[in-house]
Amino acid sequence: MPPFSLVTPTSVEEAVAELRTVAPGEVAVLAGGTDLSFDLDRAGPSLRRVLSLRRLPWRTLDWNGPVLTVGSTLPLRSLEEDPGISRRHPGLYQAIRAVGGVPLRHRATLGGNLGRASPASDLLPVLLVLDAEVDLVGPAGSRSVGVDRFLLGPRRTVLAHDELIRSVRFPEPRPSAYLWQRVRPANDISQIAVAAAFSPSERRWRLAVGGIPPRATRLPDAEQRLASSVAPTDPELRPMAEEASRQLPIAGDRRRASEEYRRHLVGVLLSRAVRAAAAHLSEGAR
Ligand SMILES: Cc1cc2nc3c(=O)[nH]c(=O)nc-3n(C[C@H](O)[C@H](O)[C@H](O)COP(=O)(O)OP(=O)(O)OC[C@H]3O[C@@H](n4cnc5c(N)ncnc54)[C@H](O)[C@@H]3O)c2cc1C
Repeated sequence: MPPFSLVTPTSVEEAVAELRTVAPGEVAVLAGGTDLSFDLDRAGPSLRRVLSLRRLPWRTLDWNGPVLTVGSTLPLRSLEEDPGISRRHPGLYQAIRAVGGVPLRHRATLGGNLGRASPASDLLPVLLVLDAEVDLVGPAGSRSVGVDRFLLGPRRTVLAHDELIRSVRFPEPRPSAYLWQRVRPANDISQIAVAAAFSPSERRWRLAVGGIPPRATRLPDAEQRLASSVAPTDPELRPMAEEASRQLPIAGDRRRASEEYRRHLVGVLLSRAVRAAAAHLSEGAR
């Protein structure tokens, strides 16, 4: 690890100004550090500064009517412990609980998960089906980007080097579910992970898949198959599952799963996720 100085700004303006003073490869942004600590071990000699977000006022969780705004540096464990999350965003709650163990979730943040943009992320498929908006702040001010546009590929996002993720906004509570399949239940990444959510305002389903490169992806053609059916029956789920399996942008790999198995799995898990989300709807989770 090269020697670097740790900078801990106390205001957003100071943090952004700090990023502007150095070239992209010379600075690393630190939130919970669960991913970054590995990167620092492998960092090249150009790294000069680590900018810690620890003292910024972003460890927040706000409900404004139906809209939930989560500050980017709030530990996942705090989100998990908020009763509103499990009740109003069950899919998000399930995805958070899929991230490592409790000690990890005391440090790991939503901002860090987005910043890393890993194809294996447990949170990104759910963010997609909830139409989450990512609020960014930089030298030119603030801007918001839908999570679908925010993600470009493995470890690639639209974030400029002098921008930071301030918060993530969820426009409305949605009956939702997150399911994954792993070779080993702990300390492993998913062979496939899926998320499903029903938008009450638009009366339509959103489906997404994760666990495979290059990035978590929505499945619009499969969504069309479910149309506006709030509680799809088996004959309605079957064409959705077939479409998802066909549409899935994947190859197999020798370590975790063949292409054929993943294509089969995506249909099975999506059907279960839609049923689970529909059950939340009938329980009145809103
Ligand atoms: C043992 C272990 C198990 C794990 N298991 C899982 C798992 O099951 N599922 C899963 O999804 N992930 C898992 N992870 C990955 C990791 O914990 C998550 O991605 C976590 O959410 C990252 O958050 P962090 O705050 O620790 O990010 P950090 O490590 O601090 O940062 C990660 C990246 O995001 C950037 N960044 C962070 N915050 C911001 C911000 N506000 N603005 C701009 N850029 C920012 C950083 O610069 C860095 O590049 C695991 C990691 C470990 C070490």
